[in-house]
Amino acid sequence: MNFVLEHIAGLGELTALPAFSHADGETAAAVLDEAARFFSEVVAPTNRIGDQVGSVRNEDGSVSTPPGFKEAYRRYVDAGWGAVKGPPEFGGHGFPTAVAIAVQEMLTSANMAMSLCPMLTASAVVALIRHGSDDQRAAFLEKLVTGEWTGTMLLTEPEAGSDLGALRARATPNGDGTWSLTGQKIFITWGEHDMADNIVHLVLARAPEAPPGTRGISMFIVPKYLVRDDGSLGERNGVVCVSLEHKLGIHASPTAVMALENATGSLIGEVHQGMRYMFSMMNDARLHVGLEGLAISERAYQQAAAHARERRQGRAVGAPRTESSLIVAHPDVRRMLMTMRVNIEAMRALMYDHAAAIDRAEWGATDAERAEGETRAALLTPVTKGWGSDLGVELTSLAIQVYGGMGYVEETGAAQHWRDSRIAPIYEGTNGIQAIDLVLRKLPVDDGAGVRGYLDEIEKLAADLDGLGVHAPAIAGALRTGVETLRTATEHLLGCDDANDALAGAAPYLRMFGIVAGGYYLARLARAAAPEAASDPWLAAKVASARFYADQILPQAGGLLGAVTADSGQLFAVDAELLGT
Ligand SMILES: Cc1cc2nc3c(=O)[nH]c(=O)nc-3n(C[C@H](O)[C@H](O)[C@H](O)COP(=O)(O)OP(=O)(O)OC[C@H]3O[C@@H](n4cnc5c(N)ncnc54)[C@H](O)[C@@H]3O)c2cc1C
Repeated sequence: MNFVLEHIAGLGELTALPAFSHADGETAAAVLDEAARFFSEVVAPTNRIGDQVGSVRNEDGSVSTPPGFKEAYRRYVDAGWGAVKGPPEFGGHGFPTAVAIAVQEMLTSANMAMSLCPMLTASAVVALIRHGSDDQRAAFLEKLVTGEWTGTMLLTEPEAGSDLGALRARATPNGDGTWSLTGQKIFITWGEHDMADNIVHLVLARAPEAPPGTRGISMFIVPKYLVRDDGSLGERNGVVCVSLEHKLGIHASPTAVMALENATGSLIGEVHQGMRYMFSMMNDARLHVGLEGLAISERAYQQAAAHARERRQGRAVGAPRTESSLIVAHPDVRRMLMTMRVNIEAMRALMYDHAAAIDRAEWGATDAERAEGETRAALLTPVTKGWGSDLGVELTSLAIQVYGGMGYVEETGAAQHWRDSRIAPIYEGTNGIQAIDLVLRKLPVDDGAGVRGYLDEIEKLAADLDGLGVHAPAIAGALRTGVETLRTATEHLLGCDDANDALAGAAPYLRMFGIVAGGYYLARLARAAAPEAASDPWLAAKVASARFYADQILPQAGGLLGAVTADSGQLFAVDAELLGT
């Protein structure tokens, strides 16, 4: 993590910005060391019991979290982990997003279900900082930054999932500056629980005379307990949990159906601007969901590698006849472990780079630096979310394969990671929606200048890898071929006249983008590691990762070109009525 922060996220340059003058690299490294200890010792042990027991709704509508959760969360808040990134004037420690994301990665590896609660709280903080009034900030921000109160997002309704424009929840003004909200929301993560004194719901609803679709959506703060002027908790508000879903994974994260019955809320910003505010929070929220793919793969990989070093089966080529070999000695097991390893390293680099772009967008020293950060973060958002969360499912599945039969039984914990990972491609905008966002919204920005700039960077790096010695030709060659393929695919999509043809190629394009970006970051890490690699096995392994990726993963980009450039004709060649027959 420190290596990636230094060589990819540019922590040195970030901490030179006035906003982060107190957060030098050494302090950040000390924070990560302490985070590693805390999350391993305090949070990770709650993961298994969380899966087995789950959160439960009681008859009175309250929700009880699994044993140990309240205590672990209280210690998380007391130790200040929720406040790593928040603004100092509201009790935060003011570290860059790049550092906060590394801490969040550890929390998510330790317990993904629990991590969703601080993740949503952080999104509520972003919303209030960017769009809240002074009064709203004063009432809620400090408690949210520290994590004493937690946040949620009430967007989804039975008829409004991917298409939020269809939502029906209503808000009517009470005449005293407050609003009254009515409606039903489904699938609300941590919508009700017992880990915090108050829950601050951000709710999307329609004000009177709202235009149809997404242009008529407003955003409201609806706290579980109303907050008095002196900051103390007042009346119980009309926002209640009616049931919890039973689901494939993240059992400890309560997924609630929430009823709003004349709940009192306050409008954030201006009426009908709710979707604009949502979009401004999306870079952060989607980065966090992509990060789930990384974090859970990392934990699954660590466990699978440990198992492969203990389990003996068969005889590896060249091993003595009398003894069976550790499975880690078999090439196919190595292939699985290396596939996990290099994709994890690639994801981490992409995501920390994305986090640093968010920091530059917010705190860059010049307008140009802020604009560059904004463009880069916007471009990487769907890639981080879509590629990262898909890989999470694939790599946790590979971890099960490394375990063999023991991976399929629950005892080892490998199965839980796979079940938990499966939600990330679905929520926070399905990966189908991410691909559409990448192709229809992000590529055309400035007539493709943002994406072309990124491709130019990759090409430049491919021409400058001599320092990698004997591995340079293979890594540079694969990277050059990969970026050429990605450029061809990009130009094809930018030039597509028929929107259906562009949409047909969107998902394979996002995958291709992720694969090539991964090769780029691993080559950068290898270049940073190369000078000392001869005397340091850990650094030598960085070069080995880039080489393995160049040989085995990068060529997969070429295999996707046909799917990106094929038109949509064959997708619709079979009548919809015949599908499923
Ligand atoms: C465990 C869990 C936690 C959640 N937490 C929250 C939360 O805290 N707050 C909240 O508000 N919501 C939450 N959600 C809801 C989640 O964001 C939605 O499930 C998600 O946005 C997808 O909507 P949907 O389920 O209605 O699927 P649909 O929109 O019905 O999608 C079904 C399929 O159709 C595809 N599709 C839909 N529209 C298009 C299109 N235009 N083009 C191409 N393909 C399309 C989708 O990609 C998907 O494959 C959660 C869901 C779950 C399961």
